[in-house]
Amino acid sequence: MTTDFDLIVIGGGSGGLAHAQRAAEYGAKAAVVESGPLGGTCVNVGCVPKKIMWYSAHHAHQMRHAGDFGFAVSVNGHDWSALKKKRDAYIKRLNGIYEANLDKRGVTYLQGHGKFIDRNTIDVDGKHYTAERIVVATGGYPLVPDIPGAELGITSDGFFDLDERPQRVAVLGSGYISVELAGVFNGLGSDTTILVRKDGVLRNFDVLLRDELETAMERSGIELETGVVPTALEKTAGGIKVHAGDGRAFGEFDAVVWAIGRGPSTGSLNAAAAGIEMDAAGFIPTDDWQKTNVDNIFALGDVTGRDALTPVAIAAGRRLADRLYNGMTDRRLEYHTIPTVVFSHPPIGTVGLTEDEARKEYGDEVRVYETRFNPMIYAFSKEKVQTAMKLVVVGNEERIVGCHLIGDGVDEMLQGFSVAVRMGATKQDFDDTVAIHPTSSEELVTMR
Ligand SMILES: Cc1cc2nc3c(=O)[nH]c(=O)nc-3n(C[C@H](O)[C@H](O)[C@H](O)COP(=O)(O)OP(=O)(O)OC[C@H]3O[C@@H](n4cnc5c(N)ncnc54)[C@H](O)[C@@H]3O)c2cc1C
Repeated sequence: MTTDFDLIVIGGGSGGLAHAQRAAEYGAKAAVVESGPLGGTCVNVGCVPKKIMWYSAHHAHQMRHAGDFGFAVSVNGHDWSALKKKRDAYIKRLNGIYEANLDKRGVTYLQGHGKFIDRNTIDVDGKHYTAERIVVATGGYPLVPDIPGAELGITSDGFFDLDERPQRVAVLGSGYISVELAGVFNGLGSDTTILVRKDGVLRNFDVLLRDELETAMERSGIELETGVVPTALEKTAGGIKVHAGDGRAFGEFDAVVWAIGRGPSTGSLNAAAAGIEMDAAGFIPTDDWQKTNVDNIFALGDVTGRDALTPVAIAAGRRLADRLYNGMTDRRLEYHTIPTVVFSHPPIGTVGLTEDEARKEYGDEVRVYETRFNPMIYAFSKEKVQTAMKLVVVGNEERIVGCHLIGDGVDEMLQGFSVAVRMGATKQDFDDTVAIHPTSSEELVTMR
């Protein structure tokens, strides 16, 4: 069968771009269909603008401690709107770089909404294109609950649209996006409340991280309300109120942010026309090789419902191209020991099994090493932010299966340690590694 392309990727985000470009480098005739700005969630309404906002809040934090180190600092407010303008311009530049990169590699950029006509044909705003293989990398979108007044709230997308900083903010949700956005608001001066349905934040994370973060958030002025099942948002004369199932009401707030999870962007793909199976929530399951139930159709990134992280989408995309277009027949992404950072204040870094997960899997073979300390950066400060670390080890050889960190600098600390964990390092390997002094990371190789 003669087709227009060897490969069409639907979705020009982290995973789709990575796959198409790598495939094109190997000589595939590739096209990317994208309905929004190039770069997808991460670049436009995710990691990148989020990290810029995190840096801003981080600077606020650093300035509070600068006086302890001899500076006479006076801060004359914070200009959210000027920062937003700079951030938007930065992202626009990145969009341009992404387009240039496609061009450089000879990837055709099809601007518009893609949907399936059949297993080899994609409709892009009325025009049809065929390809031997199709990759779905359409990512996801922020969920909003179906309750009265829900539209009074914004999502993480709306957060990045804010021109001014709201003074009284509620963030609903317990995941990493919730604590990250709350940290930014709080750091930059908003009165911030997190409302969670259950008993705390980051429920899938190690208990040490959850406890330490909740303590740090509380000390920094973030309020945490637990057991809040929202039933309605109400516009009042003074702002927005959040009503809960147990009769409590919270607020008024100037902004309410939904951070309750993300759904897959598959609703308008017409995936059924190609016979693609989806799960009940609309995610597209794949096998270990990113293949859907249809032989020539693959899926990767957030739309698969697996670890929703940019480097995961990129790695899956590149490895798939290595395999399909460069003869690396065993090349695939192994979805384990994936390190991740939460850009909270202080940040969290985590890789491998939590203590609970390890105990479920290995029972009494598990041993835990833990440390808590005040890092030297707070040597002269009244307001200290504690660092905490945990190593989860297994068996007589004490293989490290989990490494959980919270504190200043752990966001940059974790990457190297995650290489060691992935390679199967033991506690003895850590002990045998000479420390770097004086740092916080040295504590990881000196734990007893
Ligand atoms: C607030 C926030 C913060 C985040 N922070 C981090 C972080 O710090 N680190 C990290 O690793 N990850 C982070 N993430 C997650 C990360 O952004 C995603 O995991 C990543 O972008 C997934 O890449 P993807 O290629 O699967 O999808 P996306 O990047 O979402 O790309 C999908 C693209 O497909 C397009 N599309 C969808 N349907 C169609 C269609 N039918 N036709 C044409 N185009 C279509 C969309 O417009 C989009 O551009 C964050 C996410 C959010 C929301």
